[in-house]
Amino acid sequence: MKEIKVPTGTSDILPEQIPLWRYVEDTVRTVFERYGYSEIRTPIFEYTALFNRAIGDTSDIVEKEMYTFNKSETPGEDSVTLRPELTAPIVRSYLENNLPKIKQFQKLYYCGPLFRYERPQKGRRRQFTQAGVEALGSTSYLLDADKCRDAYRDTLKKYLEPHLPQLCGNCQRRFQRNVFRILDCKTPNCIAINKDVPAFDKYLCADCRAHFDNLIKTLDESGMKYGLDKHLVRGFDYYTKTIFEITHSSLGAQDALCGGGRYDDLIAELGGPSLGAVGFAIGLERTMLALESADIKMPEPPRPKVFVAVIDQKFSPKAFHIITTLRQKGISADMDYEGKSVKSQFRTADKLKSEFVITIGEDEITKQTLKLKNMVSGTETEVNESEFLSKPSF
Ligand code: AMP
Repeated sequence: MKEIKVPTGTSDILPEQIPLWRYVEDTVRTVFERYGYSEIRTPIFEYTALFNRAIGDTSDIVEKEMYTFNKSETPGEDSVTLRPELTAPIVRSYLENNLPKIKQFQKLYYCGPLFRYERPQKGRRRQFTQAGVEALGSTSYLLDADKCRDAYRDTLKKYLEPHLPQLCGNCQRRFQRNVFRILDCKTPNCIAINKDVPAFDKYLCADCRAHFDNLIKTLDESGMKYGLDKHLVRGFDYYTKTIFEITHSSLGAQDALCGGGRYDDLIAELGGPSLGAVGFAIGLERTMLALESADIKMPEPPRPKVFVAVIDQKFSPKAFHIITTLRQKGISADMDYEGKSVKSQFRTADKLKSEFVITIGEDEITKQTLKLKNMVSGTETEVNESEFLSKPSF
């Protein structure tokens, strides 16, 4: 019989990897909360219409990357899709739960899995995890970003038209449907043609120009290092004005760690008031790849404070009573469940990096004591069993 494996583009997170995951998740939560963001959790799947409307029909995600379950498969129900991104679900929730009425300006963050039917490679998976923030309802004046986008679209088309026969098949199609996507094509011919496209910032309208200049001024004053990228394109149609990415050189072809931007029209697009918003998402798997390459010391896996060893298996019920009592008092404790020899039990305690080992033998049972060994210093002490269990101290 063929062995059933984990699905392509997904992976198991094994116990030894959990400390790294916790470290990264805890860090993003701490940092986001330090900036005044509150956590929000939305369902893993949403009605497909939400993503079609928010991300845009011509985006790669909507065109070919969504895990969608159609009406016919779920009778009487509208088509649903495993979430491929979280900005649209959060805007939906913000509106559905009337959050703008409670407080127009909401700073929300999330951390959880997303699903895209992609061609897997290093740093590109079908299930991956993002942590991100959305600042919704910021009072930033609504701008007619499309006005300058139209002007730039015309300029781009004019520049690219003579090169059309040299562009890849995909880009020839993009030329009509969404010319901006040509800018981040990764095929060598298209890269060469894109090298000399006119810079976007000459085509900004007065409002966008002011917004852009203020942003640059703020970044400069805060000493933030950044570069202006005239080829940057994000895979979602809801963006207006600023978009940005953070990359890391260790990641190879998929080098974006974090991406985001402003989406001043999306709240209105999904039926809400005209309010501005901005957000970004960090890919946790890629963050971990970058951390590994940076050789940063990772936290140790959790270890039991106490391991209880028995000289004879007949003392196992006593050992069980001790670990249960210690656990109830908030102390992590473990014992052998496989009938191992004493020597082997000590080996297990060593492997688990247990701080203390309690040994139970005939002697201890008679005297109602426990032998407590500090595995770091090697010192052994004898303690009264009932006193120790009522108030464990090490
Ligand atoms: P996006 O939602 O496409 O803007 O992506 C934001 C961040 O999520 C990227 O910078 C990556 O770190 C991460 N990311 C996006 N797609 C994938 C994927 N298929 N596999 C792993 N990480 C991803």
